[in-house]
Amino acid sequence: MSISSSDRAFLARAVDLAAEAARTGNDPFGSILVSDSGELLAEDRNRVGDLNDPTQHPEIALSRWAATNLDADQRRSSTVYTSGEHCVMCSASHGIVGLGRIVYATSTAQLLTWLEEFGAAPLAITPSPIEQIVPGIAVDGPVAEFSDAVRELHRQRHTSAQ
Ligand SMILES: [Zn+2]
Repeated sequence: MSISSSDRAFLARAVDLAAEAARTGNDPFGSILVSDSGELLAEDRNRVGDLNDPTQHPEIALSRWAATNLDADQRRSSTVYTSGEHCVMCSASHGIVGLGRIVYATSTAQLLTWLEEFGAAPLAITPSPIEQIVPGIAVDGPVAEFSDAVRELHRQRHTSAQ
């Protein structure tokens, strides 16, 4: 599926949430859940710093929200927009709950490049494409226009330069 203008608007909101996460001392990631009619159902940002819990990623939070608040058809027809491609943990939660399409602004491959560039610690777990964790999932990304903004959030997070 190609990236539409509404996809871009929802990705922009996810990146705004990533910036909010960074401003509040968390890793710069944000995600939103949108219904098939284009309604914003839920949104969250990284809370690893707030809760001192490295599993507090927004994508798994949205999976849990969907499990509680949506039926199976609603979950399957919804879309998750996220500032950074899902990690393995979040991909698994997405697939277990049965959510639909994923659109990400920046890829894990980009993140790995940036972390190395900024001298940050590498990821704790081996990256794996969402499609390898969730068979048949529809995935789109990265979307080039967001890469500079997201890279800058990671740069500020991982270097002393503001
Ligand atoms: Zn994750």
